[in-house]
Amino acid sequence: MFREIREAEKQFVVQTYKRAPVLWERGHGVWLVDLEGREYLDMAAGIAVNSLGYEHPAITEVLAKPGLIHTSNLYYTRPQVELARALCENSFASKVFFCNSGTEANEGALKFARKWGKDRRQIVAFSDSFHGRTMGALACTANPRYRQPFEPLIGGVRFATYNDLDSVNLDGEVAAVIVEPIQGEGGVRPADPAFLQGLRRMCEARDVLLIFDEVQCGLGRTGQLWGYQHGGVEPDIMTLAKPLGGGLPIGAILINEKVANALEAGDHGSTFGGGPLVTRVAQSVFDTINGPDFLKQVLEVGEQLHQVLRRAVARHQFVLEARGRGLMWGLVLDDKVPVADLVEAGYKQKVVMLSSGRNTLRLVPPLILKAKHVEIFEKRLTAALEEVALALA
Ligand SMILES: *Cc1c(COP(=O)(O)O)cnc(C)c1O
Repeated sequence: MFREIREAEKQFVVQTYKRAPVLWERGHGVWLVDLEGREYLDMAAGIAVNSLGYEHPAITEVLAKPGLIHTSNLYYTRPQVELARALCENSFASKVFFCNSGTEANEGALKFARKWGKDRRQIVAFSDSFHGRTMGALACTANPRYRQPFEPLIGGVRFATYNDLDSVNLDGEVAAVIVEPIQGEGGVRPADPAFLQGLRRMCEARDVLLIFDEVQCGLGRTGQLWGYQHGGVEPDIMTLAKPLGGGLPIGAILINEKVANALEAGDHGSTFGGGPLVTRVAQSVFDTINGPDFLKQVLEVGEQLHQVLRRAVARHQFVLEARGRGLMWGLVLDDKVPVADLVEAGYKQKVVMLSSGRNTLRLVPPLILKAKHVEIFEKRLTAALEEVALALA
């Protein structure tokens, strides 16, 4: 049965993905279940998407209720407006634009920045960044492997070095700076608070917009509602996507009044963006994550996970560093140990993990992870690391 599906995938699906040899049949809580009924501890959450895990009542109860799925943005719908209000009332923002993915949110943010900037067309982005795969978002993404086959991308983007203020030059016709408060795909790298504060100051001095891409690190992932709260500075534009829809596709561009004033009817649009079904689910996801004690729990369990990773660093020479915040962690490996081997050893131990950047193991579990799950994770990670260590010897 699995073999049949693998062969059909190869025949009928565009071959742009390298898939793990596993087929997920269902999930519950923080557990994923494969074709044979084996249960795996999920430390990946569908790439930081399934923040409430699987079959969470906050999502299933909304999905079970009848209601409109789509009407287009030609008309008013209540759930879209209510979600926009909730996002604004709980962030720096004064207005929200809804779209359908992270790359689309960043694409829109770049358009808004250029509309605001008038003659100023340039964007400053950073080394090891990831902002998505469409032409504008890709132009701001550092990885040459993703960029080069598709050049020329949009012009006017230049790169500075992440966490290095001295490398940032806002001379010329710069409209905006785009940065991840914690880089996700680039190796789980938190920005130094001083770096974000310095960017804020420089943008202020030059009248340049500051865009925070919180597609991965936003909405509770770091133990604060927003990643920017760790830096103590606010952006002019923030993009969201991954966790917002509880697994349904949604993106959002949050903007302050300054940016909102530069936009008018017809400047941007989306057929599906902010539809009534996805925004009803997103509202329920948002209310759960923003509910009492939810983030306190993320911080506590996150600290426990941090300790597990620190013990791994102490035990193995090839494990160099644990870095991250909340429930977003990277375990940096020595270059001679391919992170893919550790991810593969994890499948054998029934734990689902991700890689990130050149050689970093990435852990972005559902935010409902509990202490007892971290204990199970430590056993399975330890066994996977032993297997990798044995292969090295
Ligand atoms: C995943 C990601 C994106 C792209 O999101 P898609 O929904 O895959 O288009 C953009 N920025 C960051 C920081 C991401 O992690």
